[in-house]
Parts: sequence; C-alpha cells; structure tokens
Amino acid sequence: ASINPQNLQRFKVVFLGDQATGKTSIVQRFLNNTFAGDQENGYAPTVGIDFITKTIFLEDRTVRLQLWDTAGMERFRALVPTYIRDSSIAIVVFDLTDRRSFLSIPHWMGEIERERGGDIATFLVGNKLDLESARAVSEEEGQQEAEKHGASYVETSAKTGANIKALFRNVSLSLPGVH
Ligand code: GDP
Ligand code: MG
Repeated sequence: ASINPQNLQRFKVVFLGDQATGKTSIVQRFLNNTFAGDQENGYAPTVGIDFITKTIFLEDRTVRLQLWDTAGMERFRALVPTYIRDSSIAIVVFDLTDRRSFLSIPHWMGEIERERGGDIATFLVGNKLDLESARAVSEEEGQQEAEKHGASYVETSAKTGANIKALFRNVSLSLPGVH
C-alpha cells in the first residue's frame, strides 16, 4: 500500500547532552548506518536548529520522527527551552567513558522537566559502549540515574551500531498513542 504523507503523524524527538557524547553519531548511525567523518551522505548539521525526518513503520501505523540534533546547543544553552518545546520524546546522551558528561545529566533533565514537566517520554543513553575498557560509569549507575529522572535507560555504540535499532524501536513505542 502506498503512504499518503499528509496522513502521517509527526513527532519531535530532541537530543540533549554534553558535547562529544555522540548525539550526531547516533542519529547518523540510525539514518544511514554509517559512522564518523563520513559527510558524503549529506548529514552535517550546522549550529542552531536543525532536524532530519525519518519514517518509522510500526505494526498498526506509520509515524514520522523529526530528529532534532543539538549541534552547538551545548554552548548556546539559552536556546534549549525553545528547542525542547513541542517535543514528544527527549533523549539525553552521555559518554560512558566520560564521567563529567554523566554528571551533567541532572542539568539536562532539569531543562526537560522545567519546559515539559512530566508531559514527555525521556530516554537516558550511555553511548560509546564499544570502549568497554575505558568505561567510567557502570551500567548500574546509569540505570539508577535514569530511574531518578523517570527515564528509560539504554547503552549504545554509534561506532558498532550496538543497540541503536533497539533505542529507536523503544522510542517509537513510547510515542503518544502507540501501544
Ligand atoms: P556530539 O557532539 O554529541 O554530536 O558527538 P559526535 O557524534 O560528534 O561524536 C563525538 C566524538 O565521539 C566523535 O569523534 C565520534 O567519532 C566519537 N563517537 C561517537 N559515538 C561513538 C561511539 O559509540 N564509540 C566511539 N568509540 N566513539 C564514538
Ligand atoms: Mg553533534
């Protein structure tokens, strides 16, 4: 059956978290199944507001995800509230090998809470799972931090692709009205 784009439900998904945690790499891995430095497929977000659309086929319907990457948003923090507004899902990314990015989680969760209250599904993503020997945050700590903020916890590697599909599948299943 063909899809009428007019009938697709659209949902805004925002990525937050410190610089260099892998937000852009996660989006790129999901969209193109590629990793790092490969700009030839045309995904090179600029500073500011930028999103890319991906259609997701669920069992009972098709939805369109607007993935909002936050290039430079880490430095222009005053823009963050505008960016979170109207979003259905927020994904906070930290680097499993960088404790400082883990300690920033309350800041990002606070921004989401202030802008959206409880009216949003939140995911906490510990990325760079492939760098197991450099791990600075345990899975248990990540899990506990997620619970503290009412978020679902997923550990991923944008480099190997580990758990990237699972992350977006869980995101899709958390959309309003999906069962
Ligand atoms: P952003 O600033 O949060 O968008 O982070 P980027 O996606 O630009 O990634 C920052 C750096 O981390 C880049 O050098 C990436 O190649 C690297 N990186 C991102 N994800 C992973 C990962 O899963 N594993 C490893 N080893 N490196 C990663
Ligand atoms: Mg980026």
